[in-house]
Amino acid sequence: MPFDLASRLAARRAEHLYRQRPLLQAPQGPEVVVDGEAVLAFSSNDYLGLANHPEVIRAMQRGAERWGVGGGASHLVIGHSTPHHELEEALADFTGRPRALLFSTGYMANLAAVTALVGQGDTVLEDRLNHASLLDAGLLSGARFSRYLHNDAPSLAKRLEKATGNTLVVTDGVFSMDGDLADLPALCAAAKARDAWVMVDDAHGFGPLGATGGGIVEHFGLGIDDVPVLVGTLGKAFGTAGAFVAGSEELIETLIQFARPYIYTTSQPPAVACATLKSLELLRGESWRRAHLNRLIARFRQGAADIGLTLMDSPTPIQPILVGSSERALRLSALLRERGILVGAIRPPTVPAGSARLRVTLTAAHSEAQVERLLDILAECWNRLAQEAFENA
Ligand SMILES: *Cc1c(COP(=O)(O)O)cnc(C)c1O
Repeated sequence: MPFDLASRLAARRAEHLYRQRPLLQAPQGPEVVVDGEAVLAFSSNDYLGLANHPEVIRAMQRGAERWGVGGGASHLVIGHSTPHHELEEALADFTGRPRALLFSTGYMANLAAVTALVGQGDTVLEDRLNHASLLDAGLLSGARFSRYLHNDAPSLAKRLEKATGNTLVVTDGVFSMDGDLADLPALCAAAKARDAWVMVDDAHGFGPLGATGGGIVEHFGLGIDDVPVLVGTLGKAFGTAGAFVAGSEELIETLIQFARPYIYTTSQPPAVACATLKSLELLRGESWRRAHLNRLIARFRQGAADIGLTLMDSPTPIQPILVGSSERALRLSALLRERGILVGAIRPPTVPAGSARLRVTLTAAHSEAQVERLLDILAECWNRLAQEAFENA
C-alpha cells in the first residue's frame, strides 16, 4: 500500500523519536505558560532576552505604522524598502564588512550562499555536525560534497587535498546542539593553504560572543580574509526574525544576481527590519547582557559538575546535558516538567545515535535564582532517574 503514513508514524513513536510541539501561550521569556501550565523555561534561543523587549516591540509597532505590514514583493521587484536597506547598512557596519544582505530566514540564507558559490565541478566540505540547513545546502548545490570529522582541521586538510574546482569550507560558528566553538584559526589556516573559502554560520555566536557581540570572528579576531562568507541569523540573540550574509561587494552582488532563495521570495515585513535595527543597537550597546549571561553560564557549569552531570565543551549559552538513550532523555525531561521546568530533549536524527541530550539554554533574561532552582531540581531528578534504572534492572 503506498503512502502508509500510519505505520511510519507508529514506528517513529516506538523508537521514542516522535516529536510534539509544546504550545507556548505567553511571549518568549524565562517564565512562560506552556500547554496550560506555568513553567520556568530553559529552551529558547533568545540569548540576550530581546524577543520581548519593550523598545524592540515599540520599534516594530512604529515600523508597521510607517511602512505597513507586508513586504509586498521580492527584493528585486519592489519589495526592497528603506528599513531593509538601513538594516543591511547597519549589519555591514556591525560586522566590519563592505556589505550585508538580508534574508527572511537563516535556512534560506544558507541555501542561497552555498548554492550561489559552488556547483557541479566544485567542492563543498562541511563539518559533520553542521546545522541541517548547511548540509541541505551542500547537497542541493550539486558540488562534490564531503563531511570532515567534527572540528578537526587535519581531517579537513585531507579532504582539501582531493578537492576540485572552487572549494568552500562550511562550518557552524557555535555548534547548535553541542554549544562548542568551531576551531576557526586552525580551519581557516587549512583552507587558506589550499585557496579554499571559509563560510561560517554564526547563528548562535552573534550576540553572546565577542566584546561587542560580534560573534565568533570577533572572539578569535578574524577578518574577511579568513572568513569571506559570514552568516548570522536574527531569530536568536537578536530576538526578531531573518538572517544576513556579510562579505565583500562582489560576494553580495553575486548573491543578488544568482542566489535563487534570495531572488524568488517575498522580502520580510519591513517592520521586522525596524525591530531588528533596535535590537542590534541593544545587542551592541548593552554589554551587561553578555556579562550577566556569562556569569549564569559559569554558575550552571559549576553546579552541574557538582551534581555529576555530563556537560559538553561549551563556553556558550547552549549547555547540553548528555544522557545517551532517547528514552532516558525523554524521561529526564518529563521529570523536570513535572516539577515546572521546561528543557527540551534532543534526539536523533538531530544528534548522532546514542547521544540524546537535554539542551539547556541560558539567557540574559534569566536570574541567578532561576538558575539555582534549575540546579536544585536537576539534582533531584537525576537521582530519581538513577533510582528508577536500579528498580527496573
Ligand atoms: C537556527 C539556525 C539556522 C536557521 O535559522 P532560521 O532563521 O531559524 O531559519 C541556521 N543555522 C544554524 C546554525 C541555526 O542554529
